[in-house]
Amino acid sequence: MSHLPLTRREFLQSTAVAGTGAALARVTPNLFAQAVVPVSRETTAAWASRAMRWAQLTLVEDDPAHFDPAFWLDFFKRTHSDGVCLSGGGCVAYYPTQVPFHHRSAWLGDRDVLGELVSGCRKLDMSVLIRTDPHATYDDAKAAHPDWIAVEANGNPRRHWASPEMWVTCALGPYNFEFMTAVHKEIMSRYRPDGIFMNRWDGSGDCYCQHCRENFKAATGFDLPRTTDSHDPTRRAFHDWRRQRFVDLVDLWNGEIRAINPDSSVIPNSGGASSPHNTIEMSRRAPMLAADRQARHGLEPPWLVGKSAKEYRATMGNKPVIGLFGIGLEEQYRWKDSVTGSAEIRIWALDAVANNMRPWYTKFSATLHDERWLKSIDDIYVWTEKNQHYLTDRRPLARVAIVFSQQTSWYYGGRVEDYALGWYQAMVESRIPFEMVHDRLLDAEHLAPYKTLILPNIAALSDAQCDQLRAFVAGGGSIIATHETSLYDELGARRKNFALADLFGVDWAGKSEGPMHNSYIRLEHEALPGNALFAGLEDAPRIINGVTRLDITPRAKFAETPFTLIPSYPDLPMEKVYPRVPKTDISCLYLRQPAGRVAYFPFDIDRTFWEVLCADHLKVMRNTLRWATNEAPMVEVNGPGLLDVTAWRNPSSITIHLVNLTNPMAMKGPYRDFFPVGAQTVRLRLPADIHAKRARLLASGKEIAIERSGAAISVTVPSILDHEVVAIDT
Ligand SMILES: [Zn+2]
Repeated sequence: MSHLPLTRREFLQSTAVAGTGAALARVTPNLFAQAVVPVSRETTAAWASRAMRWAQLTLVEDDPAHFDPAFWLDFFKRTHSDGVCLSGGGCVAYYPTQVPFHHRSAWLGDRDVLGELVSGCRKLDMSVLIRTDPHATYDDAKAAHPDWIAVEANGNPRRHWASPEMWVTCALGPYNFEFMTAVHKEIMSRYRPDGIFMNRWDGSGDCYCQHCRENFKAATGFDLPRTTDSHDPTRRAFHDWRRQRFVDLVDLWNGEIRAINPDSSVIPNSGGASSPHNTIEMSRRAPMLAADRQARHGLEPPWLVGKSAKEYRATMGNKPVIGLFGIGLEEQYRWKDSVTGSAEIRIWALDAVANNMRPWYTKFSATLHDERWLKSIDDIYVWTEKNQHYLTDRRPLARVAIVFSQQTSWYYGGRVEDYALGWYQAMVESRIPFEMVHDRLLDAEHLAPYKTLILPNIAALSDAQCDQLRAFVAGGGSIIATHETSLYDELGARRKNFALADLFGVDWAGKSEGPMHNSYIRLEHEALPGNALFAGLEDAPRIINGVTRLDITPRAKFAETPFTLIPSYPDLPMEKVYPRVPKTDISCLYLRQPAGRVAYFPFDIDRTFWEVLCADHLKVMRNTLRWATNEAPMVEVNGPGLLDVTAWRNPSSITIHLVNLTNPMAMKGPYRDFFPVGAQTVRLRLPADIHAKRARLLASGKEIAIERSGAAISVTVPSILDHEVVAIDT
């Protein structure tokens, strides 16, 4: 079983730095130089690296009788799409397959629709992926191979929930390992695509078939779990076993198709930070991955696209990350044929491009029921092609990173994502370019670009991971940690104390309090007049507290205690709403400077911020980040509005994307229109060896003046409708 152990190389790197003991001066890396930023060392297949704009045509079974391939080939050409994903097989085969029980489209006749499309796309010099979807099959397959079918907890074979004439297949047994292997080999032999993109390849929930029962028992000694409790040892073992089984499946399929076409690869649709998959292992195996965020659900701001990009980039390094977006509305009602407005399509796609993802639109059904979306894609794709020179081969210019932790979401449980979402919102509102870091990649090389790491309640951390964080701080890096960070081990077992207690300078006193009502934080202006942590709060004697806090025992007296607790007092009857204790010496933020800087919040400021979006919390988070980072920002953008700001370097230019999220619909994403924001001043600090030759605005297509002041340059963007890109030739 795999618990995602650190690789030997990662471990040696972390201990080598820690072992020196001394506080090394943290040299600011030259992020503008190409060699410094961590990159994956694997070479990426040419077909994956050159495709910048992807089109996905997901055929439906009756398409062969109705659709017009020439229309699509023309659309691909017109939009400069240079990568395509075409439906091949699995549930429905769109070619004359010879694999037994591989169901040919009932409308296929004598045609080879897949072959026609592949041939047309190859003539356009497109990279070609063929899509398979193995998650459902038919009566004939079930009759001959009853063990291919998923089994419910009650022992019954599982009917498909949406197409009841079909059966749900078992992803962990011979249906995938044998039947789909034959399908993938046949597709690779017939068409030699660059890769096989696998949709819904990893099961549809728990399966209790004979293979799952026997294989799990043989691997772990356990019977299949009957509980969904993530702390149950059987459930935990099951997650680990299943995770490894999917890695084995990808290895099997890669081995078989590469025996036919050595440059090819399976591309698993495998999810980001919240995925049950081992994203590091999936990333190692794929020359590119697509972040599948087809439609918004519930309350989702458009910057979530960028969050996916950062999460994928954390494990993919320089390998292409694709932003897979839809053109319609879905929610749980799944209007798969729907079309949404152009502003909404644009804002999600523009935020993907701003976060260095290559766009990939997906269209279900090649027979168009509604053509309104075509122009939106046309506009975006033509624009990215025109400016490709600036959008290619880029590295992020970011000094701050938010750590995310799959093991915390797997083993600690709860809504751990909310803590990260709070920081993400704060970073967007603060216009700070930043990245995300996977907690299994905290080695010195991966952390080299960053001055500050944010740990948003990263509760589950191993001793080795904590050593890496110590090494980061010993080397001059800063961390901001919140709430229960390091209070649990990597498998979610609670420790007696924080593993990082030495770094925080505090011990857990064994108690937590919450949910707290009507509690506040006092700003200690008298003790610390003019302190930078009070920026924007100079006239605020107190602000609201979070909702849950830990009881803490400081190990020593802290030099600065800017924020102290005003404990909860009754919130009803109104006559009783007065503070019982106006002032305490209980700190709400612990600040230390052992080498780099360490800021620890014992309460859930980030999660509370995401829940209630209090501006005072935003200011405290932003001020703490400034204190921790303690250097002049590389990129500053000043002006009105809510902008997602990202900054990039490639061999010949620096690009700064300003995506205008200012919109009454910003926190849910159904943009009707855009509302222009006024002038923005973009200030950039450049190293001495970089000369800014000229500046252009890539959306409005104008050249603009550069003002120089020492090592800094600044440009003024007069206004922004939906987005603007400041491109500086160097
Ligand atoms: Zn099964």
